[in-house]
Amino acid sequence: MADWGEFGFIEALRRRLPPASGALRIGVGDDASWWRPESGNGILTTTDMLVAGIHFDLSYTSAADLGYKSLAVNLSDLAAMGGRPACAYLSLALPAQLQKVWLDEYIAAFLQLAEAHNVQLAGGDTVAASELVISITLNGLVSEGNPVLRSGAEIGDDIYVSGSIGDSFLGLQLLQERIAGSVLDSSKIAFLQARHLRPSPRVGLGCQLAASGRVSAMLDISDGMVADLGHLLAASGGLGAELDRAKIPLSQAALKLVTAGHLDCRDLLTGGEDYELLFTANPDARAEIAEIAISAEVAVTRIGRITDEKTILMLVNGVTEELSGRRGYDHFHD
Ligand code: ADP
Ligand code: MG
Repeated sequence: MADWGEFGFIEALRRRLPPASGALRIGVGDDASWWRPESGNGILTTTDMLVAGIHFDLSYTSAADLGYKSLAVNLSDLAAMGGRPACAYLSLALPAQLQKVWLDEYIAAFLQLAEAHNVQLAGGDTVAASELVISITLNGLVSEGNPVLRSGAEIGDDIYVSGSIGDSFLGLQLLQERIAGSVLDSSKIAFLQARHLRPSPRVGLGCQLAASGRVSAMLDISDGMVADLGHLLAASGGLGAELDRAKIPLSQAALKLVTAGHLDCRDLLTGGEDYELLFTANPDARAEIAEIAISAEVAVTRIGRITDEKTILMLVNGVTEELSGRRGYDHFHD
């Protein structure tokens, strides 16, 4: 960064962006961006901050992986409320010794994912610092009706999750060499690692679920399935949940590790960073939700139901266990 400098970088970045178009009237280059959305349903904004050594580890995360993931986690937050992504702001604190090629690869992967989701990079800030810090703000539009909140779950609602749970946790354990992957072939190891480094934000699914008006509450799983379900239950007025272990979707790779006895299945439910959607809906919406899953091309599985018990219970081989005590990641406690 020392030879490139702040303005050299911003100018190089500006040159690789398409000109502002659509709702974005003024993007990178002026004091502020000017965004004039046509839609009347409002704007959703999410922001996220990632600090080297805390949120990512450069020893196994490439610049391209980080460029992808730093935007993907924001896309996931927006998807969880049913927002259609629109424009992003990228703020970077960069150590002077950071290599230009690293930043080039970071930006290329960021812009590639941005383009795939029609996100325009509309601005940001660039400063020097001793640690690498990345902060991204993402705006999105609510296309139909209202966004889906965490707080709308009702007693008797079904609980669903998208995709599969626990892969990211396993991928991280493999990257950190905390578990042995010897029972897995190399493609399954690569799959699990990619689920950690390149999570798939469920943007299409989130938008379609929200637009259907049939989902009562939704969030994305970042802290761990049990912890995030706890957040949804608390926001919905202190409800409970009953889950069926046999229904929780696990990938083939995860199943293989569990059946080989390499870990406790419960760790998958508390591991975090799945970036899957967890949502609730009245049982009379089952057919419609199944159709949306097909149309969005994402597996959606019904894993339990909402109760008035104020606790999370899980049925495991015919025995009911309590999960409520299992916390997810907390920056100030872990
Ligand atoms: P100012 O000094 O007026 O705050 P800056 O010099 O910080 O402006 O930034 C100049 C322009 O470059 C602004 O439009 C800003 O949004 C954009 N910009 C700076 N850093 C980034 C970045 N990391 N990503 C995207 N845009 C950036
Ligand atoms: Mg200014």
